[in-house]
Amino acid sequence: SSSALSEDSQSPGLFDYSGSGAGLPLLAQRSIALDIKLFRQIGRGRYGEVWHGNYKSEDVAVKIFEGHEETSWEKETAIYITNLISHPNILRFIGADNKDVHFCTKRWLVFEYCEYKALYEYLQAHTLTESMFCSMALGIVSGIHHLHDDVHGKVYKPSIAHRDIKSGNILVRGDLTCCIADFGLALSSASHKDVLKDPSLAVAGTKRYLAPELLDGSFNVKSFQSFLQADMYSLSLVLWEMARRVLSEEKALEYQVPYQDCTPRDPSLEDMKEVVCRQGRRPQIPNTWDGSVPLSTVGQVLEGCWAPNSSPKARLTALRIVKMLQTINCTQTYNNKTLFQPA
Ligand code: ADP
Ligand code: MG
Ligand code: MG
Repeated sequence: SSSALSEDSQSPGLFDYSGSGAGLPLLAQRSIALDIKLFRQIGRGRYGEVWHGNYKSEDVAVKIFEGHEETSWEKETAIYITNLISHPNILRFIGADNKDVHFCTKRWLVFEYCEYKALYEYLQAHTLTESMFCSMALGIVSGIHHLHDDVHGKVYKPSIAHRDIKSGNILVRGDLTCCIADFGLALSSASHKDVLKDPSLAVAGTKRYLAPELLDGSFNVKSFQSFLQADMYSLSLVLWEMARRVLSEEKALEYQVPYQDCTPRDPSLEDMKEVVCRQGRRPQIPNTWDGSVPLSTVGQVLEGCWAPNSSPKARLTALRIVKMLQTINCTQTYNNKTLFQPA
């Protein structure tokens, strides 16, 4: 179904709830909307709007769903209230609420506010040093690993596929740490059966970032791992976007969206299938990356996530990439703050 496909356009401080992604206790959530001051709109999508606001003297982002977007709101809320989803590289969820405005119910999701907004916007305005690249990339991949991982313990965390990984859905905080956001299309292994009932639901996400197997119909919907493997392809495109912005001798390549040079602005599924599947094209890996340890490592990561002739099963997992990135020694600082120290 094309309804789950989007176009290109991108449009703990308060309480202690560590160890759970459930945000505030449900009773407290019912009054959140009353306590929030909204400042200005910072984003808009098909579901509604995102606003910058303030809640109990903390900066927050409020995702406001249109009245008829109840299902989107419910789905996204359900993912955030999954036990154990909280992680330093997953957008921190504060709460969900309903608010009646002029006889129309608006549904809200409240999150920590990320000063630099989406990575997509950050990369257009900024270049990265090698050490910034290493720590941001490691954070993003760690967030995906946490999402994909299933934890069996006292509390159970299912494996979750994001299904819309792109630079527009990764946010950058004021301290330049990154987090995964926008779980509107996320699929938990516990809900895998819903997709099996209607396999057309398998093709979801942003066309430009869709894995080849989703474009050409060879996707194995029966295995939940396939959804994780598709995320890894999309993630590799994000790492490529970032790596181009890394400074070498004080210069970096200009920002480009993946496949910018061989696809139109809002590519159709057919456009993407032609380039990615039939022609087997992938974003170019510049020769100059060979001269840098982080960039040559990322080159290997990209090959291991998007190689046209290998099966999705052979793709690197997020855990594998975390380990590869950890071998790079990029203990460095940004504004005197240590971003990342190898374990
Ligand atoms: P959609 O489902 O419409 O894509 P997102 O959750 O991805 O909505 O949010 C849309 C945009 O709003 C993001 O790309 C980002 O620019 C901005 N945004 C969303 N949440 C935050 C946040 N917590 N802090 C800062 N900006 C945000
Ligand atoms: Mg989004
Ligand atoms: Mg979304």
